[in-house]
Amino acid sequence: MLAQVMPGERIVDDNALSDAEALLVEIAIVADPSPERVARYPHLKWIHSVWAGVERLVPLAAARQLPLVRLVDPMLAQTMAEAVLAWTLYIHRDMPAYAAQQRERIWRPHTYVAAGEITVGILGLGELGRAAAARLVDAGYRVTGWSHSAKAINGVETFTGVAGLHMVLARANIVVVLLPLTSDTHHLLNVERIAAMREGASVINFARGGVVDTDALLQALDDEKVSHAVLDVFDEEPLPTNSVLWNHQKVTVLPHISAPTNRDSAAKIVASNVARFRASGELPTLVGFERGY
Ligand code: NAP
Repeated sequence: MLAQVMPGERIVDDNALSDAEALLVEIAIVADPSPERVARYPHLKWIHSVWAGVERLVPLAAARQLPLVRLVDPMLAQTMAEAVLAWTLYIHRDMPAYAAQQRERIWRPHTYVAAGEITVGILGLGELGRAAAARLVDAGYRVTGWSHSAKAINGVETFTGVAGLHMVLARANIVVVLLPLTSDTHHLLNVERIAAMREGASVINFARGGVVDTDALLQALDDEKVSHAVLDVFDEEPLPTNSVLWNHQKVTVLPHISAPTNRDSAAKIVASNVARFRASGELPTLVGFERGY
């Protein structure tokens, strides 16, 4: 796909490169490589990730002061927005409970609550969080959001800072995590923050496993503080077969599928970034090594 959209570039699979050829490589187009794979290229000028989350690349790019570009793709944002809407509906319309009832042949309707009575709090209002917020507003939910810098988004009540985070957590029936994993967001949802959540709220983590303290979440599920968790991302992926999360009645496990990179749209975005670099030396917005995203 990359070779098709960049006919003027020599695109080579790194498994097929000799050590001599590796010296010639200028741009690494990567997903989630091991640091050793990138270290093979001493003359790199920059790295383009075809993933939006780059927490594994940040330390190695920072160590070499290599400009790091991450994927910003409206198609990816729409895919994530669709997933957030889907799993918000799943929780809102009691699908985990009805699935459990069906297994036991139990006919028991639960009281219907309108979307307008449900508050969804989105942690992270970046490319993906903003698209998700817009989709939820369209679907009739009350939407609040939290980010580092202040945001103005139609129909969304936005917050910043620690006090803002607590406001979002205290109000939300469903907390959606769309924060990058950085030293600041590691275990952001910990015992204290989960305690600040509304009784019986649910959590959807579509960002990275490390943003949520899994032990604190499991305790909160067992204490009925949290009703349900939809988890697409984990500290270790694939989720080990012996993890208690697999069989937990109140956990929905997804295999990191909420927003896969679209090869077609991502390849075109990479091609246009590379073409601009070749023409003018200009790079798109870079990942900030200090902030980690
Ligand atoms: P992004 O555009 O960089 O947005 C990140 C958001 O988080 C921004 O609003 C940012 O605030 C906020 N933020 C970061 N650190 C913060 C902090 N310490 N306190 C408060 N807010 C903070 O990233 P994105 O493209 O939306 O992607 C978000 C994450 O989704 C990725 O990092 C990746 O881990 C994950 N992801 C998962 C999948 C999947 O399939 N599960 C797919 C793609 C991406 P500012 O706006 O003020 O900077």
